[in-house]
Amino acid sequence: QLHMGDYDYLIKFLALGDSGVGKTSFLHRYTDNTFTGQFISTVGIDFKEKKVVYKSARGGFGGRGQRVLLQLWDTAGQERFRSLTTAFFRDAMGFILIFDITNEQSFLNIRDWLSQLKVHAYCETPDIIICGNKADLENRRQVSTARAKQLADQLGLPYFETSACTSTNVERAVDCLLDLVMQRI
Ligand code: GDP
Ligand code: MG
Repeated sequence: QLHMGDYDYLIKFLALGDSGVGKTSFLHRYTDNTFTGQFISTVGIDFKEKKVVYKSARGGFGGRGQRVLLQLWDTAGQERFRSLTTAFFRDAMGFILIFDITNEQSFLNIRDWLSQLKVHAYCETPDIIICGNKADLENRRQVSTARAKQLADQLGLPYFETSACTSTNVERAVDCLLDLVMQRI
């Protein structure tokens, strides 16, 4: 049971991307350090929480660690972005755009996710990272690292190759987004 006094900040992130790219698996890996290998179906809107201590690399907050309650919102069923509503984006301070490196279409759809996000997000320049997930499936890769990086560079966004299966870069990616968000606070 968490109480207000237990943390300094409540920060909401939202994971977006095509169905099957591993959004739910990514969030499970980050919050519970688990991976089932199954499609985890979610009804409606779901979120997972994790309490972290944020320390600014730039020495902000007087060098003190800030207790952050991270709320990671998952999109389930609303994956086809046409049905996403503004309400769903409300209060999200950071966005994790996820595609699957073994699914080219999910990569091509990143631009659409980004434009939808910009329509609905609370501010004009929200913090965003791009994750190419399922990096463990190198033998089935359809999107090269260079190509993904090129898109991320064009968009001016950080890019990570992640694996919810092996945990590669999952924590690093979320930490990066948290750092971007906390820099504004
Ligand atoms: P979502 O629809 O975006 O939430 O995708 P899920 O998290 O349900 O994952 C879809 C499928 O991909 C499931 O069978 C997962 O086990 C699998 N999956 C998710 N992430 C990874 C990953 O990093 N590596 C591998 N090999 N499989 C993954
Ligand atoms: Mg899901």
